[in-house]
Amino acid sequence: MAKEIAEDLKDEVPVFIGILNGSFMFVSDFVKKYPKPCEVTFIKLASYEGVKSTEDIQRLIGLTQDLSGRTVVILEDIIDSGNTLEEVHRIFKSENVKQLIIATLFYKPTAYKKDFKLHYVGIEIPNKFIVGYGLDYNNLGRDLPAIYQLKTTQHMTNIVLFGPPGAGKGTQANFLKEKYSLIHISTGDVFRFNIKNETALGMIAKSYMDKGELVPDQVTIDMLSAEVEKNADANGFIFDGFPRTNAQADALDKLMDSKDSQIDAMVALEVADEVLVGRLLERGKTSGRVDDADESIIRNRIKEYYNKTAILKDYYSAQNKYFGADGVGSIEDITVRLSAIIDKL
Ligand code: AMP
Repeated sequence: MAKEIAEDLKDEVPVFIGILNGSFMFVSDFVKKYPKPCEVTFIKLASYEGVKSTEDIQRLIGLTQDLSGRTVVILEDIIDSGNTLEEVHRIFKSENVKQLIIATLFYKPTAYKKDFKLHYVGIEIPNKFIVGYGLDYNNLGRDLPAIYQLKTTQHMTNIVLFGPPGAGKGTQANFLKEKYSLIHISTGDVFRFNIKNETALGMIAKSYMDKGELVPDQVTIDMLSAEVEKNADANGFIFDGFPRTNAQADALDKLMDSKDSQIDAMVALEVADEVLVGRLLERGKTSGRVDDADESIIRNRIKEYYNKTAILKDYYSAQNKYFGADGVGSIEDITVRLSAIIDKL
């Protein structure tokens, strides 16, 4: 753009006027590239403070030099609605300039509502909010050397529901997902669904699950990611039975990060082993689950939990995200305990 303007202006020595604050980096780089003599100055448009008016009245700061007869090139960082540009035109009407040329680094054609001519446009962009390279969001971000688009994804609440097999995670998740409008993902349920439908994933998972062992991390992580992606518009998730290993916890953090989100809490149901064994044997009578029917497999699952999974308490404690709740009592009482934790997040 600098070269193009220099060619078009031939022997004219222009006065480049940057509109502050946003244009300071652009103007700085622009004049460094301008191959011919030029003058450069800045002006600022500021709203009158303390004036209550339906119309936004602007005041001009910094125009001290006589511009009559000069070729003035306005350098804007961005033109969106065109309101600032309208003010610029109003102000320069009385300056008797030879010509008023408008050049802007960024231009949002879908947001522009005026019909002032834009003589030079650097980059046309969609109507999205950008920061950096002089442009701000609430005065922050001007210092960033590159341009970024603001993320506008909604806030999600993501909970890891934790506890040994038989602690009541599934039961509680069913109440909590309704109460907080969250998507419940139980890796155990997804595996069982795949086994029932005899999918390739189900075949792999079955060999581990029947013995009460953990399904390999990569298989589980890929499956979980796919479930999350299926629910792109969710308010948040209750993860039940996941993560069970440090590798899974790392993968989950990365997945949440890619969604501009995070795990807010690990909420753990604490139940003594003997109570768990009793509950699971009881469930085995009706659930049809192979891994609930045999006491030695149940004990193996509890052992897997303590060997591989219980360490995740440390993972989330280190981030101050671990919250334990007594998992013994009536279903309603336990829901109340868990809700008290979630409400404070
Ligand atoms: P659950 O329904 O959570 O008790 O899980 C039943 C079985 O599914 C476990 O014993 C594992 O074999 C398998 N499984 C469920 N979630 C995971 C996971 N996150 N990682 C590895 N294996 C899992």
